[in-house]
Amino acid sequence: MAKYEVIIIGGGPAGLTAGLYTSRAGLKSLLVERGIFGGQIVNAALIENYPGFPQGIAGMELGSLMHRQAVKYDLEVVTAEVTGITHGQPYGVSTTEGDFEAIAIIIAAGSEYRKLGVAGEERLSGHGVSYCATCDGFLFRDREVAVVGGGDTAITDALELSRHAKNVYVIHRRDQLRAGKVLQQRAFGEPKLEFIWSTVVEEVLGDKVLGGLKLRNVKTGQHSILEVAGVFVAVGLMPNSQSFFPILDLDDAGYIVVDETMATSDPGMFAAGDIRRNSPRQVSAAVGDGATAAMSAFKYIQNQRNEIGITSP
Ligand code: NAP
Repeated sequence: MAKYEVIIIGGGPAGLTAGLYTSRAGLKSLLVERGIFGGQIVNAALIENYPGFPQGIAGMELGSLMHRQAVKYDLEVVTAEVTGITHGQPYGVSTTEGDFEAIAIIIAAGSEYRKLGVAGEERLSGHGVSYCATCDGFLFRDREVAVVGGGDTAITDALELSRHAKNVYVIHRRDQLRAGKVLQQRAFGEPKLEFIWSTVVEEVLGDKVLGGLKLRNVKTGQHSILEVAGVFVAVGLMPNSQSFFPILDLDDAGYIVVDETMATSDPGMFAAGDIRRNSPRQVSAAVGDGATAAMSAFKYIQNQRNEIGITSP
């Protein structure tokens, strides 16, 4: 079984930064990622608030730069899904590409799109129902589309879609947006955006492709049908923490509980980025978490060597 000092789970900004720090600190490090390096940011057309890029940078490009920098210092990477973790010293990490051992683990597995959970959504996913405006927006040139949600993602998506679509309906369950003020101002100034307030989607309609949405106004209870060719669901994210329960303490929403050193309830396991409790879910914050978790893991490994006499692989 291949042995490491630290295994990092997840190759988004938090995981890649953790890998950069642990490998530069001379720790034998493995990063396990199941998809594309960069995590959620690869879906962002333009990231305007990551310091160092005053003109903004495409998420895909930033992810690729972070990956390049991390592997420059002997970080090993494997594309695989984690299927199990055993805790105790050493930790065991089973993946679809084999089993590994490590003295410490950094979990940076991020989050995934929250679903609406209504009839028709899953069946028509990929046939009019999408979770990524940057990926699928161009498919709806001059068509009518809807975005569900009122946060930064929903409004960024709606603005992005207004470049392609004929009209963009923003369906929000309240009568006020959660999105930041700058985005709100841009959205209210975009003539192609139409807001449908205090309304939820009750059903996604269509046989093989999306035909429309069944809506309900939460104030009046009134139902209506909105005919659209595409719907972009942007109702937030859910942490990918299922496999760490019951090994670690999670909060009510499923995020991993950490302290300010990114230490979890298990002394050799650290968590960083969107998966940890109270993350501001910003790239810059994830990068900071990754560095913190790496430094904490380094200290933990040194203590294990000194106190218990664990030898490094
Ligand atoms: P979010 O901030 O959690 O917003 C989710 C939105 O979906 C909220 O408006 C929420 O309504 C609504 N919602 C949640 N569950 C729903 C349901 N079942 N049915 C209908 N509506 C539902 O998520 P996000 O917009 O994906 O943003 C995630 C994080 O990334 C945030 O921290 C955000 O600031 C950050 N982000 C930043 C940027 C940027 O440009 N700076 C861009 C994208 C994302 P309520 O408002 O009623 O709760």
